[in-house]
Amino acid sequence: MTTLTRSRLSFSQSVNYMVNRAFEHLDLPPGLKEQIMACNSVLQVQFPVRLDNGEYRTFTAWRAVHSDHRVPVKGGMRFAPHVRQDEVMALAALMTYKCAIVNVPYGGAKGGLLISPRDYSDEELERITRRFARELISKGYIGPAVNVPAPDMGTGPREMAWIADTYKEMHPDELNYFASVTGKPVANGGIRGRTEATGRGIQYVLREFFRHPEDVKMADLTGDLDGKRIVIQGLGNVGYHAAKFLSEEDGAKIVAIIERDGVIMNEKGLPVEAVKAYLTEHDSVQGFPGAAYDTDGAKGLELACDLLILAALEAQVTLDNVDNLKTSLVVEAANGPVTFDADTRLRQRGVVILPDAFVNAGGVTVSYFEWIKNLSHIRFGRMARRLDEQHGKRVIEALELMTGKKVPDEFRADLMLQTDELALVRSGLDDTMREAYQEISEARHRTNEVLDFRTAAYYVALKKITRTHLDMGV
Ligand code: GLU
Repeated sequence: MTTLTRSRLSFSQSVNYMVNRAFEHLDLPPGLKEQIMACNSVLQVQFPVRLDNGEYRTFTAWRAVHSDHRVPVKGGMRFAPHVRQDEVMALAALMTYKCAIVNVPYGGAKGGLLISPRDYSDEELERITRRFARELISKGYIGPAVNVPAPDMGTGPREMAWIADTYKEMHPDELNYFASVTGKPVANGGIRGRTEATGRGIQYVLREFFRHPEDVKMADLTGDLDGKRIVIQGLGNVGYHAAKFLSEEDGAKIVAIIERDGVIMNEKGLPVEAVKAYLTEHDSVQGFPGAAYDTDGAKGLELACDLLILAALEAQVTLDNVDNLKTSLVVEAANGPVTFDADTRLRQRGVVILPDAFVNAGGVTVSYFEWIKNLSHIRFGRMARRLDEQHGKRVIEALELMTGKKVPDEFRADLMLQTDELALVRSGLDDTMREAYQEISEARHRTNEVLDFRTAAYYVALKKITRTHLDMGV
């Protein structure tokens, strides 16, 4: 992955400057803007953990609550060697706007632990995660009604299960303990479709984008996703699923994959599943059969392509490289991959940017479904699945009886579609992303000046957040 490039602004300043552009289109009582942009609280904790060799080590971690205009507040837990307080605050702010954009009724939060997870054994990571969770739970920074973490960079279902279990130990009489964290393993309070949710969400947004010919034209493109040349940075959970779905289901070609140790390229398209397996085995993309390789990953961002999907870290497109980008559509699958200055430059050039706070909101959307499942203590579809199946069968029988002909297979499959948990999660996610696209589109065209996607997305978020403040009081 490319290294962080220095920007004149911090990450949270960069987010605030972007949000500020949307405020210019709102007429608000003086002072409300400052309240909305402020980070409500940040907890820093330092705690010791005994390592396998008997040594003690002190860890530093944060949980920031950007806005509790809605509770619980929601956001991932990042375990990474570059985590800083400002980063956690910026990511918490993005969560506030993200939830509002996709109509998920939460405030924004984020957690970060300064650690390089690969330097620790699984047993050590479990002790560290549980100890961090105890710190947050005892201080009111985790709980089903107050603050609900989820996976982010460096964490996954395993860490979420440890957090849920720690919460249960500390609150043995809390019936809803599973709802204290989302992104858990499916067998332990999780929901089907959560792991791939952010990648799926990106696919659904892009499909919707290509249903709007006027937007497609703005990005100097034509047609649909079929055959589009994609460069993707980052083959972690988000990048892998997005690239896999877009290439396997929509016919897009992944012509380059940028990873920590360089970039691999193939004009005919890279097989995402095989690259991921290779990366897992070799901890590197170098040497992947049938692909050209360059150690300079950053150069990969400058390859000519139809879509550039940024699914790695923040601040990847900066003033240092923005003028070298050769794409007209940038997709922010990661949080904050384009700095404020670079964003300004890209907009001036007419490059279309599908912004993080909208495009990667699939994760928190399915987290919301998981939280509801945990609170209702029943799997979605459990009551209705067989009834739906029976209904479908009867419709087919009736049609065949009335027409004397067999219902063609493609209709039969649709009529017999089982409304199980995964089908419902996908339907809910697709609907959420498409509805948000429509709301953003309306906001873009509400005046003579057509707004860019980011400003319009923030405008949509701010409208809802200010409404809550004005109705409920601050
Ligand atoms: N970490 C993810 C994000 O940045 C998911 C957050 C959640 O599910 O609460 O959106």
